[in-house]
Amino acid sequence: MSPQFNIPKTQVAAIVETTDAPLKVVRDHPVKQASELEPGECLVELEYSGVCHTDLHARNGDWPIQAKLPLIGGHEGVGRIVAIGEHTQTSPVKVGDRVGIKWLAYSCLDCEPCRKGLEQSCLNGRYSGFTVDGTFSQYVVSWVTHVTPIPESLQSADAASILCAGVTVYRAIKYSNTHIGDWIVLPGAGGGLGHLAIQYAVAMGLRVVAVAPHADTGAEKKELCLKLGAEKWIDFRETKDLVKDIVDATDGLGAHAAVVTAANGQAYAQAIDYLRMGGTLMVVGLPARASLSADIFFTVTKSISIVGSYVGNRQDAREALDIAARGKVKVHFVLKPLSELSKTYEGLAEGTIVGRVVLNMKE
Ligand SMILES: [Zn+2]
Ligand SMILES: [Zn+2]
Repeated sequence: MSPQFNIPKTQVAAIVETTDAPLKVVRDHPVKQASELEPGECLVELEYSGVCHTDLHARNGDWPIQAKLPLIGGHEGVGRIVAIGEHTQTSPVKVGDRVGIKWLAYSCLDCEPCRKGLEQSCLNGRYSGFTVDGTFSQYVVSWVTHVTPIPESLQSADAASILCAGVTVYRAIKYSNTHIGDWIVLPGAGGGLGHLAIQYAVAMGLRVVAVAPHADTGAEKKELCLKLGAEKWIDFRETKDLVKDIVDATDGLGAHAAVVTAANGQAYAQAIDYLRMGGTLMVVGLPARASLSADIFFTVTKSISIVGSYVGNRQDAREALDIAARGKVKVHFVLKPLSELSKTYEGLAEGTIVGRVVLNMKE
């Protein structure tokens, strides 16, 4: 029911019809009305939506699993709940609340992964902008149990990219077996995930080695990484021996952990070489098609842990937002209208985007 909000019948939305057709921005996409919502569903009027590399994979259809078609992408949305489905029994959120939409749109909360707190790997999971329509539209349907309340002190545009990029790197660092004063290596440090990883790592008392991404190195990314608190910067174009440079930079012993968000296999293999004894490799990036090749001899003799980390659960999302709300982490983004989504995808594919792009859904 939605007594206080006027819900239009149509909306602006960016639609992927097929993976090889150009993205289409339409003005007459239907809005699911309050009376049409199932129990447990809610309708969110979006203010902002971040753009993630995953949206590009969904758009291009280059992952081993395919997105639904036609598709509205996007999974870093922030907006206000304007309606909740009738007969919803209990709801942790109410109409008028400001909430976030993340990658995991819905999980059953009852299968074994859900019961063990791995709801992002739910056997019945639904994913925003992949298996259900996402946030590149003015309204999105979500579930009251899975929208994330946004802390009052955090502006909506600032919160958007925390919901995927922030949560993903926050959880990876949280489970990286590191302690205050430990060295952590962050390849791809100037990009969307990387610039947030630096800030979460610094907030957690870690010492950061930032490694420039393969695709594009450059002064702007270096400056950003050092400003955010990275102690060392290693540039692919300048270094002759990346592994040696990282080991030298980390007391000659190697790093305690690496959070690899890069979209290529090589970055994972190198990590085994520059991690110190007992080090942890956090596997986070989701390349289109790549396998992780680790030298078994050194993985064993160095007692290396290789740990996959997939976005985050509801608790991780709240923690990541809370740290941002306390001013410890700030997303560096440029605001663009929805009509510039195609151009943004081009920038992501070329690796030329510093920080993040956030779309203003009201424009
Ligand atoms: Zn994402
Ligand atoms: Zn489940």
